[in-house]
Amino acid sequence: MKLGMSYVSEHIPEHIHEDMKAIVDMGCTQVLAAFTDPSLYGGINGAFRRAGEIGRRNGLTVYAQIWGYANTFGGGKVSKFMLEDTSVWRVRADGSRIARGCLNNPGFMEYFEKLARKCFERGYQGIYIDGPGRMHDDKRQGRERCFCQYCQDKFRRQYGGDLLASQSAPEFEEFAARGLVEFVAEACSRASKIAPNFRTICCMWPKSKQACWEPVSAIRDLDVFGTYPYWHLPYVGYGGSLEAAAADATLTQQLAAKHGKESWIWLGAYEIPKGREKEIVYEGGKALAASGCNAIYTWTYRSGLGLDEESDDHEASWTQVKRLYRELAST
Ligand SMILES: [Zn+2]
Repeated sequence: MKLGMSYVSEHIPEHIHEDMKAIVDMGCTQVLAAFTDPSLYGGINGAFRRAGEIGRRNGLTVYAQIWGYANTFGGGKVSKFMLEDTSVWRVRADGSRIARGCLNNPGFMEYFEKLARKCFERGYQGIYIDGPGRMHDDKRQGRERCFCQYCQDKFRRQYGGDLLASQSAPEFEEFAARGLVEFVAEACSRASKIAPNFRTICCMWPKSKQACWEPVSAIRDLDVFGTYPYWHLPYVGYGGSLEAAAADATLTQQLAAKHGKESWIWLGAYEIPKGREKEIVYEGGKALAASGCNAIYTWTYRSGLGLDEESDDHEASWTQVKRLYRELAST
């Protein structure tokens, strides 16, 4: 089983080197370096410029993630792109606009491709598509459904009706799911054309399972299919269970294998409540790994130390990650 680690990168080279070395020493062969889009440009851009090369020098396969891309993908949402190009913003049913990118807007795709190309040019070996849209998730996201002209035109082409008038129709949900799958397929197609060995990875939210997992896992240009089963865990607040998380890990492995992809399963080791580190991180991680997935990844290095999602006792949580990885490294 391959072990990977997500890494919200430092910007000073010797610090990146020390962290990459520590990631190797704990048994990882892969790292997912996460950058918000401002860090690909001016200001503190040393992380993006250097993490790929330093990771590879340490023997790691290094993938890149545009964290919270266009305030739409998973993760920290501080998009420079959304600040500068309001034409890509979503439009609510009442006509008001929100600074989250619309998957159906051509500008959303074009900018993603541009950033993916920058990642390749900086030595990253693949691009990560992180839970795009979350269209099947919570009420907050539901209120952020887009009714821009691109969405209205596309709905009319695909279903022959009016998007605004169809909000309670079954086609409305189907349209959202179909759009998400179409976006991932096109994003993977464009990314894979950047270079033959530039890999594409997509992880989907548990709540998009019914509508999206099968078609996304079947996308021709996708190399790795995964999920974040820790969203099922009871402490997250969605009323789930470890059994449900393990079942999703198994389903992910099966779908990936069926379509000739690798499977990634995410272990959440951030925002861990104090005293539950062993149960959630170590025992939970073992249950997820039992799915037989190709790789286990952990969000995130040092259990989120320094991020707003730091675990209550980050050292205790991180100790359990290292314990888990020691055991998994030999499997
Ligand atoms: Zn739209």
